[in-house]
Amino acid sequence: MAVSKLGIDKRNAFVYNIMATMGGNCVILDLKKLFITENYALPIEYSVNLSDVEYMGEYPLKKPVTVTGKVTNRAGLVTLSISMVYVFSAPCDRCGLPTEIRHEVTLEKSLAPEIAGSDSDEIILVEDYKLDLDELIFTEVIISLPMKHLCQKECKGICASCGKNLNDGKCNCNTKQIDPRLQALADLLKDEN
Ligand SMILES: [Zn+2]
Ligand SMILES: [Zn+2]
Repeated sequence: MAVSKLGIDKRNAFVYNIMATMGGNCVILDLKKLFITENYALPIEYSVNLSDVEYMGEYPLKKPVTVTGKVTNRAGLVTLSISMVYVFSAPCDRCGLPTEIRHEVTLEKSLAPEIAGSDSDEIILVEDYKLDLDELIFTEVIISLPMKHLCQKECKGICASCGKNLNDGKCNCNTKQIDPRLQALADLLKDEN
């Protein structure tokens, strides 16, 4: 995983630190100043290259994942809200046609330097005020990868006999495929006669 682009709005007067280690697999946001500056928002806009992620025998994330969002401090409550958009590019599960589908994952969580009591799913712990954004994005994208990938909702697939893509029309094969169990029964009955 490498960071292909890091572009955080520099027009903002607010001073913050971003440690971006190229090749070291991390964009770490240092949020210490944000935590002590109320009513402030830190914009996030960059892209992450996940093209080396293998999934079901494919490398479906050929284009960088674009990440937009912000970290805000509203009256002391620090919240991360981001949108991750990726294009899943792989052959259709049924017909094999190269298919690209855009997916969006959104995430909104509170950030806290320490979690009191039982840890909550709604809170991300930022130890030492540092948030490993790459790791978070990597995890969120991976768990969101689709189980089903179809070129169209009602993809008809390909004919098992002749290999024709049935979305292009019917083939000339006998479509009345006999259930093999029924065929075995038919053979048994034939033997008895
Ligand atoms: Zn298809
Ligand atoms: Zn056919």
